[in-house]
Amino acid sequence: MSLKLFNTLTRNKDDFIPIVEGKVGYYSCGLTVYNYAHIGNLRTYIFTDTLRRVLEYNGYEVNHVMNITDVGHLASDQDEGEDKIDREAQKTKKSPYEIAEFYTQAFLKDMEELNIQKPTLMCKATEHIPDMIALIEKLVNKGYAYVTKNAVYYDTSKFKDYGKLARLNLDGQNSGARVEVEPEKRNPFDFALWKINQPNHIMQWDSPWGRGFPGWHIECSAMSMKYLGETFDIHSGGIDHIPVHHTNEIAQSEGATGKKFVNYWVHANFLQIKDTKMSKSLANFYTLQDLKNMGFDPMVFKMFVLMAKYRAELSFTDEALTAAKTALEYIYNFVTQMGNSDDASKTRNETTPTGRLGDVTQPSYEDWVKEYKEKFLEAINDDLNTPQAVAIVLEIIQEAYKRKQFGIYETLLDFDRVLGIRIKEKRESTKEELPDEIKTLITERENARKTKDWKKSDALRKQIESSGYILEDTPEGMRCKKKE
Ligand code: AMP
Ligand code: ZN
Repeated sequence: MSLKLFNTLTRNKDDFIPIVEGKVGYYSCGLTVYNYAHIGNLRTYIFTDTLRRVLEYNGYEVNHVMNITDVGHLASDQDEGEDKIDREAQKTKKSPYEIAEFYTQAFLKDMEELNIQKPTLMCKATEHIPDMIALIEKLVNKGYAYVTKNAVYYDTSKFKDYGKLARLNLDGQNSGARVEVEPEKRNPFDFALWKINQPNHIMQWDSPWGRGFPGWHIECSAMSMKYLGETFDIHSGGIDHIPVHHTNEIAQSEGATGKKFVNYWVHANFLQIKDTKMSKSLANFYTLQDLKNMGFDPMVFKMFVLMAKYRAELSFTDEALTAAKTALEYIYNFVTQMGNSDDASKTRNETTPTGRLGDVTQPSYEDWVKEYKEKFLEAINDDLNTPQAVAIVLEIIQEAYKRKQFGIYETLLDFDRVLGIRIKEKRESTKEELPDEIKTLITERENARKTKDWKKSDALRKQIESSGYILEDTPEGMRCKKKE
């Protein structure tokens, strides 16, 4: 069952075929660290991580590179406005490096709380200035760039197929499709590779064109190609990156190398609030901390994100969040009530004392679970259909209750390699670690029940209880816990 990804380049669900068998080079655009990430940003990073998890579930070794934008991202994605980090630094009278470091750490904490895996490599734009300058020099030498008083610009009219990713209508090139704020620009779509003569900008570096700082787009071209090669497998981001940032990355990279830059472009849709994109500039956003203050576990937010397709708009509503909470609790309740055994898949059939669940003649765990495993793989490989994958998890649990067979823990852990909703941690945190002597008494009692030695079994129960523990028969099996 091959993995299919919706490729923005082809507008098609393409079969995923890596450049090198078994390996994937994957770049995702990171956060601009001038403020806390809002939960819309975090939706995109949950998607980014889920894509990596799906690739790994399929057996690929993934080299996942994500940048941190700590310079050059202007207030508008085009070349207008102030640098977001520089502006924050001026406002707070801190250094831009302090600002970037503070919000990078906050972002890492959010990632950790959402169980978003750290990329293989996280790289900062400010630590790659020489790579950017080298790339710009190549573009200047090849005639793709020109220098004005304020910047080195990319000449979009020189790059064939400039609009191919976004399917832009370039007829607008000559009639001002993008607002013209720089009279020296040759074409409205041209964009800055390197800004010069910006005396108010704090961060500045020497370059062949004068002291200045890089444009946001060149950062991602330079860093992705440095770590993943001139052509690599997958590049992701939010849909807002399609018409400008990623379009410009393609023009820069392919202009410089003459090779195809990326095989699969994958984009996540927005988190909306009241039908509007959540955004810092509109001040209509929540942070993860806001959600925690409202009493929501970060895993509830993750579940909420997973319960929608990544390519669909997602509305942030109380009802949707509550539905996610209910689904998560259903899963958590199951795994925390399975009894004390670690390997529930084996013990449930053999050792349950009630007799109700201990019927060894029931179909084996593998037989009925196999179908769910296949359905799960089919869902995630169909362009990351996570709502379907979550539905399958809920279904298998429902089925386990129905069959009174609770040995699906290992399967749930396997599914959690993709969902990342901390099933194991939840179980471990609620599972009571029993002392060895109690474990021995439980085993002896289970053996006594198997041989129908009820007298011995009762005596052992009493012994367990007089040691300060109680035995409970639950629908999910026997549980033993310390007396309150
Ligand atoms: P930025 O820090 O502006 O570079 O944005 C970081 C990431 O968040 C980018 O991939 C954006 O596409 C994404 N993003 C921004 N706003 C939203 C939103 N409302 N919903 C989902 N993703 C978003
Ligand atoms: Zn980028």
